[in-house]
Parts: sequence; structure tokens; C-alpha cells
Amino acid sequence: MTDGAPPLPPPAVRRALSPSRAADFTQCPLLYRFRTIDRLPEAPSAAAVRGTLVHAVLEHLFDLPPGERTPERAAALLEPRWRALLEREPQLHALFGTDADPDPPALAAWLAGAHRLLERYFQLEDPTRLEPAAREMRVEVDLDDGLQLRGIVDRLDVAPDGAMRVVDYKTGRAPSEATAGRAMFQMRFYALVLWRLRGQVPRLLQLVYLGSGDVVRYVPDEGDLLATERKVRALWEAIERNHRTGEWPARPSRTCTWCDHKALCPSFGGTPPPLPTLPTLPTATG
Ligand code: SF4
Repeated sequence: MTDGAPPLPPPAVRRALSPSRAADFTQCPLLYRFRTIDRLPEAPSAAAVRGTLVHAVLEHLFDLPPGERTPERAAALLEPRWRALLEREPQLHALFGTDADPDPPALAAWLAGAHRLLERYFQLEDPTRLEPAAREMRVEVDLDDGLQLRGIVDRLDVAPDGAMRVVDYKTGRAPSEATAGRAMFQMRFYALVLWRLRGQVPRLLQLVYLGSGDVVRYVPDEGDLLATERKVRALWEAIERNHRTGEWPARPSRTCTWCDHKALCPSFGGTPPPLPTLPTLPTATG
């Protein structure tokens, strides 16, 4: 610092939270740190990318006139949406072999799996009778204490009387009662954001599980959403405490099986890298 210059401000934490990062922190504070602060890369899994592809097809299906939203047209969207994904993220090529040694049967089997999920979609909903108000809608709102809540809503339907239905597609199977909390927390989180943005509590939250063919519906009320807001604020206070102390404890559970960061995790004999010293810590996304 030069003489007379004002001192540098302390590192700031961007006060923003999404349902995914809130769920990470609840599951394991160290996982939250790796994803949100260190921003460590993670290898995309074929299952996760298939989910992204199916979401993209369902988003673009509604670009078609209602009468053309058929299973055949949805299936025909698979390849172009896959090519669009590859254009955006060329590293996804590696999921199905290498340039020198491609694996077309693996790609075909993977696309067939995506096709089955789309077929199941048509068993659960009739898109010719739907006219979504929004698809893949980015939502964000600042609470009165400055904490920003943000996320992406798969689909928002608005009835002629203005009632909102928030729809989320899941490409896995419906979770057990014990693990359903994460998905419903995400939906309440979105409902809270929409309530704060539009002054109206969504009438219905709907989870569409394409892996098992289940539809889970929930009617929220103000009491639910106020409780969700309290929970989100408490989570953020805990996150800020960890920022202040620099302590991000590992919380091992059976979900460690799918964690990309075991090699750096003390619960598995690893050592986390030093915390980055950024002027502004990265914000939560996704
Ligand atoms: S391996 Fe488990 S305990 Fe370690 S960071 Fe990942 S989720 Fe947390």
C-alpha cells in the first residue's frame, strides 16, 4: 500500500444463495466450499448430462405450435439439442469415447435412455394443452437484509385467474420420503422467490419425476414460505460464520459416493487446498 492510500476493504462475501448451493451446504459444508469458493471442476456424469439434454428438449418442445408437441417431434429434438450442448461444452464429447476411439453404441444407448424419459413425460402431461408462461426462467430477489435468492425455474404456468404453478422436471426416480426434503425445499425456495417478486404465493408446486413416472404436488401457503425464508436466512448465517472462521468441516454421508472431491477431503485422507483470497468471493449459482 502506498503512503496515504486508504486501506483495502476486507474480502467481501457476495450475499447470494441458490437452492442447489443451500442443499450443498446442508449436506456438507466442505462440499459447498469446494463448489462455491474454490470452484473446483467436476467431471460431468452421463446421467447428469442426460438430464440437461432432456430439460433442453422439454424447453424447446414448447417453441412448437401446440398441435405439434408430439412424442415424435420431441424425439426429433434430441439430436439437435445434443449437438447444441456439444457446441457449448465440447468436453462432453469425452463421455462417449475419444476422437481417436469414439464409442457410437454408448452414445446410441445414452440417447435411447433420454428418449425413454421423454416417452414417460408424455404419459404424465399433455403438452398440447399447456401454454407455459415461462421456461428455464432465471429468478432472483433481494431479501430485506440484502441476501439475494436466485435460481432457475424449469417451467412456470399461469392460469387465466393469475394462479401460478411451478413445475420442475427430475430425470431420476421419485425419492423416498426420507430424501424427498431436498426436492421440496428447492420448490419452496422458488415459491418464496416468486412470492417476494410478484406478491402472490404460487398455488401449486409440481415435481415431475421422469425416471419413475411419479408426479408430486404440493400446495404451499404463506406459513410454509415464511418458514422457508427463516431456514434460508439461518443457512446463510451459518455460511457467513464459516467464511469468517475459514472452517469448512467435512460431513461424510453415503452421498460421498458421488462426490468428485474425495481426494481433497480429510474424511478420505486428503487435504483441501488453501482457501483462495479473492477480493470478492464467488456467488452461488445453479
Ligand atoms: S467426500 Fe463427502 S465429506 Fe468429503 S467433501 Fe465430498 S461430500 Fe463432503
